[in-house]
Amino acid sequence: MKWRSEPPAILVSLYGWSAKDRQLNVKRFDQYAVHELAHGVWSCLAVGGPTDREARWWLWNEGFAHYLADTHLRAAYPSDAEVSAKWSAKRERARSQVARLVESRGEEILREIPRRWQEFDSELTGRRA
Ligand SMILES: [Zn+2]
Repeated sequence: MKWRSEPPAILVSLYGWSAKDRQLNVKRFDQYAVHELAHGVWSCLAVGGPTDREARWWLWNEGFAHYLADTHLRAAYPSDAEVSAKWSAKRERARSQVARLVESRGEEILREIPRRWQEFDSELTGRRA
């Protein structure tokens, strides 16, 4: 999450995490941090934010962050980091739609997704952008 009124920074919030959550997820902290950094990349590349299609924007934004953190950058993690693909079905569906786009068009498309997600979404759903 990037705060509007503060110097550029990436915050990895543990808000809502119990002590048990922190204990269970400490080895996945790198993955959480990379996920939030991926949202920062999205923000830098995107034109505009969610509009009247907020739910679809959320799917592309989260899918982009999960794909980058869980798949694309997986080899860059420290050897003791735990990188899991276990997320909710909605998040997995979001990651998978980005993965399918990358598989069909190549990795270069990753840079285009934050700007052109409505176009890709229309191709996928048949709905107009
Ligand atoms: Zn996210």
